[in-house]
Amino acid sequence: GDYSQKIDYVFKVVLIGDSAVGKTQLLARFSRNEFSLDSKATIGVEFQTKTLIIDNKTVKAQIWDTAGQERGRLIVIAYIKAFVGRRILYRAVTSAYYRGAVGAMLVYDMTKRQSFDHMVRWLEELRGHADQNIVIMLIGNKCDLGSLRAVPMEDAEEFAQRENLFFMETSALESTNVETCFLTILTEIYRIH
Ligand code: GDP
Ligand code: MG
Repeated sequence: GDYSQKIDYVFKVVLIGDSAVGKTQLLARFSRNEFSLDSKATIGVEFQTKTLIIDNKTVKAQIWDTAGQERGRLIVIAYIKAFVGRRILYRAVTSAYYRGAVGAMLVYDMTKRQSFDHMVRWLEELRGHADQNIVIMLIGNKCDLGSLRAVPMEDAEEFAQRENLFFMETSALESTNVETCFLTILTEIYRIH
């Protein structure tokens, strides 16, 4: 018999957002059904893959994680914008990450208002690098910490509607909506390709 699986599509999806919002744990939950409360030293690889069936087709999701360089990159970008005033160097820093991406998850921590306010900047970076028709999902992670909520759902819904993004709240810890958000974005990517 032939045990090799025929892959119909490979979709690259990038995770972006501030440090510590839970990008790596969302990916660990989705790809391996794992979660770690102490996830500092997790990342040695640049992406994880998971194969799933959508509409009878075999879809390989290749999910890229930023390996904790978020803060440094934003500072570098701000510096270059301020002192060089050109986009060339700035693009070189991040373009490899976005190259070929057909989907993006913009992740904030719903207990950290600043991580939501920074979504504007992440979206700007994304739109500066990615394809026109990239599918984008806004994710408010850590919804298990409801009593610490700092971002009202309406604020996120309004932002998502204005910017034409999908939106979901998730918990990598409790596994809430994790499968659903990846399935939703991958299904939409499949639909438009
Ligand atoms: P990253 O820097 O965006 O990759 O964030 P990490 O995935 O490394 O997570 C940062 C911290 O938040 C870690 O201590 C995680 O255990 C914790 N964390 C991640 N997701 C959740 C979640 O859904 N709920 C809670 N309560 N903590 C989470
Ligand atoms: Mg990480």
